[in-house]
Amino acid sequence: MRKKLLMLDIDDTICNATQAYEKALEECYEFFRKMHLDVSKKDFVENYMEARKEIHLELSGTASMHDRFLYFQRMSERMKLPFEPGTLSDITEVYWKSTYSNLSLFPGVMEAMKKIKKSGILIGLATNLVADVQIKKLERLGVEDYIDFVVTSQEAGKEKPHPAVFLLALKKAGCLPEEAVMLGDSLEQDVEGAKHLGMTAVHLSDKSSKGKADFTIKKFDEILGVLEKAG
Ligand SMILES: [Mg+2]
Repeated sequence: MRKKLLMLDIDDTICNATQAYEKALEECYEFFRKMHLDVSKKDFVENYMEARKEIHLELSGTASMHDRFLYFQRMSERMKLPFEPGTLSDITEVYWKSTYSNLSLFPGVMEAMKKIKKSGILIGLATNLVADVQIKKLERLGVEDYIDFVVTSQEAGKEKPHPAVFLLALKKAGCLPEEAVMLGDSLEQDVEGAKHLGMTAVHLSDKSSKGKADFTIKKFDEILGVLEKAG
């Protein structure tokens, strides 16, 4: 059966998100230390990471678990700093501005997307985050012309690997699970979530996929060969 839809994860599948997030946190510290000279970078990062862990546990399974404002708010509470809503909203803005400016597509992504579009296969994005952030990332990356639709966990009400995200994407594309291919860097969220519904699951990884994925590729553009074989 010819494949009709390629679903893609965004972060660390089409672009260097983890790297951009790390740089953004460094810029946030530079911003923060202007107001709090006595806080070391180590303390800042440790408290941010602990705050992130807490919010993840408390809001597990919802798009709000990725809300950076909540991370910075909790970080500041952990550090017993006075409540400064203006600073919290400014530092969140610094974080996202920095992320967008440090974000770049992985090599070969644009060219591969062009070829896939040309072949008539739809391209949908399925991602665990709020919509406005992910849409701004796509604008920054310059790939919006090749994307047919986006599904975020905010819209689906659940996070990958929950079937709701994948089912909403299939509904938007008007196709069956067996007509769709999912490509992502996370075995749990992308590969297992898609495979569970009967989609072809492709893992982007340097390491072995422990038999969980239908295909494992090291570079994004190898997806072209997979679509040929799978379709
Ligand atoms: Mg990812």
